[in-house]
Amino acid sequence: MYINKRVLIKLSGEALAAGKGFGMDDEAINEIAKTLKEVHELGVEIGIVVGGGNFWRGRNTEDMDRTVSDNIGMLGTVMNALRVQSALESLGLETRVQTAIQMNEVAEPFIVRKAIRHLEKKRIVIFAAGTGHPYFSTDTTAALRALEIGASAILLGKTGTDAIYDKDPNKYNDAVKYDKLSYREILSNNLQVMDSSAVSLCQSNNMPLVVFGIDDPYNLVRVVKGEKIGTYVGGQ
Ligand code: UDP
Repeated sequence: MYINKRVLIKLSGEALAAGKGFGMDDEAINEIAKTLKEVHELGVEIGIVVGGGNFWRGRNTEDMDRTVSDNIGMLGTVMNALRVQSALESLGLETRVQTAIQMNEVAEPFIVRKAIRHLEKKRIVIFAAGTGHPYFSTDTTAALRALEIGASAILLGKTGTDAIYDKDPNKYNDAVKYDKLSYREILSNNLQVMDSSAVSLCQSNNMPLVVFGIDDPYNLVRVVKGEKIGTYVGGQ
């Protein structure tokens, strides 16, 4: 079983906005929080990387310095992290937010040893502000944090789909679903799963990845329990 003691869950901004596409959807966030509680009760240590696409995507802005735009994007992830933290704490879970851009009045700075200590104490750690650097994504952040905290896998919840397909299943009826893939196949077939720097980081460090549909948040529990849903990515 590839999922054991500790996992890194990537929650995209879109998952927090549900069907709205922008902002935060309280109902969706509370559903995700309830599911995270169930995963926590299974005894799994949880690190979360939150995205920010429900507020801002640095690469989508024109007429603006990319570094500034990406800084705005990273700050968006902090808002999401605080919202998820509050949903988890209202369910009685202990959590910490760590930011890659220091803002000590709001959250702890990212310190990997401290993060690991929190995880060992069964606190859920939410990693915000991406890598702290422009030109990266929160997918790359997820790969990096998963490696740093020694996670056994990255669980990547996708909106609008339930797995990896050879082409967009929302556009093509004959799209074929993959149960299992290698990172090499993702790169060589140009499959849009994570950006290529996240994929190569996972590939070169043998970090397993499970891609599943987060529109039904309970899938998170199913994946952790070992049900064969979504797509497993591993190996070379
Ligand atoms: N971002 C960044 N560096 C990072 C992570 C994120 O500059 O290490 C910025 C970037 O502008 C990105 C935005 O934050 O577009 C939101 O993150 P992302 O698009 O990965 O969020 P998601 O699509 O997962 O919601």
